[in-house]
Amino acid sequence: MLKNLAAIVTGSTSGIGLSIADALAANGADVMLNGFGDAGAIEKERAGLEQRHGIKARYNGADMTKPEEIRALVSAATKAFGKVDIIVNNAGIQHVAPIEEFPEEKWDAIIAINLTSAFHMTKAAFAGMKARKFGRIINIASAHALVASPFKSAYVTAKHGLLGFTKTVALEGAEFGVTCNAICPGYVKTPLVEKQIPDTAKARGMTEEEVVQKVILEAQPTKKFVTVEDVAALAVYLAGPNSSSMTGAAYQIDGGWVAK
Ligand code: NAD
Repeated sequence: MLKNLAAIVTGSTSGIGLSIADALAANGADVMLNGFGDAGAIEKERAGLEQRHGIKARYNGADMTKPEEIRALVSAATKAFGKVDIIVNNAGIQHVAPIEEFPEEKWDAIIAINLTSAFHMTKAAFAGMKARKFGRIINIASAHALVASPFKSAYVTAKHGLLGFTKTVALEGAEFGVTCNAICPGYVKTPLVEKQIPDTAKARGMTEEEVVQKVILEAQPTKKFVTVEDVAALAVYLAGPNSSSMTGAAYQIDGGWVAK
């Protein structure tokens, strides 16, 4: 379905991004991996994608807080694959704390990685997509792009902003075959969620098990985590040929969370 297309997935060394990279490759796309982690483990993932799916996979460790590294990432993918057709802006971090205790450097990092990097990625690839009359920009937002939770001020702000950016890119790309959509997952069991459990427990005065049951699973009427595979399948659909009229939208995949 995605043969002869080339994708960059930011933050694809772990969790949702890794699953999306695998699913895009399984559908025939060349994939540029990005993100932090152990060099040997990343190389194993990269080589595994090529072996399993018969596509080209590359890795670039651009730091999403650094615009010049983001531009170099897009250039490296263009050099490796000839073009960039699909961008998945997925890299993200979280920090959980009350506003009066929220570290300023965490606020700045969350806005830079979860929001501003999507602007730099899009800016670097947009002209090429418009010239070729094809592009798919998929922003991994969150249920927190639509509703708030206490103690996640920077994250909720970044994700709401990402949805605004999604709509603007959709309008600017609409006549050029370039779509832009946001996927809004509920809780997915990845390192990002596992790491926030102790801080949420502290902020809310709960045990970690209470956080899982009363905060995380309580948010989702299905009472279960969303899976990385479900998010990846939606990303593949949005990257594919049948989604050309789907643009500027937020697709919830949240077990019913924001329906309440
Ligand atoms: P994760 O921690 O498993 O993965 C995050 C990825 O981002 C990793 O590859 C990491 O190396 C990378 N990353 C972090 N900082 C970076 C930087 N400065 N530059 C480049 N890469 C960087 O987390 P995840 O849960 O898979 O999250 C992926 C995305 O999904 C995030 O945008 C997150 O906000 C969003 N999301 C997650 C959930 C969830 O419940 N897990 C829910 C909704 C939305």
